[in-house]
Amino acid sequence: NLFGGKIPFTLHDDKPDHACLNLASESKRIDYPKPDGKLSFDKLSSVFLSNTNHEEDQPCHLRLTDPSIPITRNLPLYDEPAQRYCPAGVYEIVSQDDGSPYSQINAQNCLHCKTCDIKDPAQNITWLAPEGAGGPNYPSM
Ligand code: SF4
Repeated sequence: NLFGGKIPFTLHDDKPDHACLNLASESKRIDYPKPDGKLSFDKLSSVFLSNTNHEEDQPCHLRLTDPSIPITRNLPLYDEPAQRYCPAGVYEIVSQDDGSPYSQINAQNCLHCKTCDIKDPAQNITWLAPEGAGGPNYPSM
């Protein structure tokens, strides 16, 4: 209010968001309470409310420049952060039959927020516009 909304300069942060992630080994694990279904909700219930949908047989609109990076780099260094910052649970680390981790992309749930494109510490994810009119659909908005 000091300048009445006309501040004569702009504050810039030169460090990109993807370079600001702390290593998992230096971070404390946060135990969030379970969603109560009244004020807090699990991710997939919220994805359901968004009515998001993409044609099943279209190419994945989330492109990894190097498909090995989620397991070889992001998992050991950052505990693969895409599992957490994606609001739709699109990125999952699943265990294969032999116990080794595998990176799975559930692109059909994508809410088009583009967080993964911005936040991936390796800048390995490119969000592309999906085919057709796929995506979230909030009919009551
Ligand atoms: S654009 Fe958003 S919702 Fe879609 S995969 Fe990336 S982080 Fe998840």
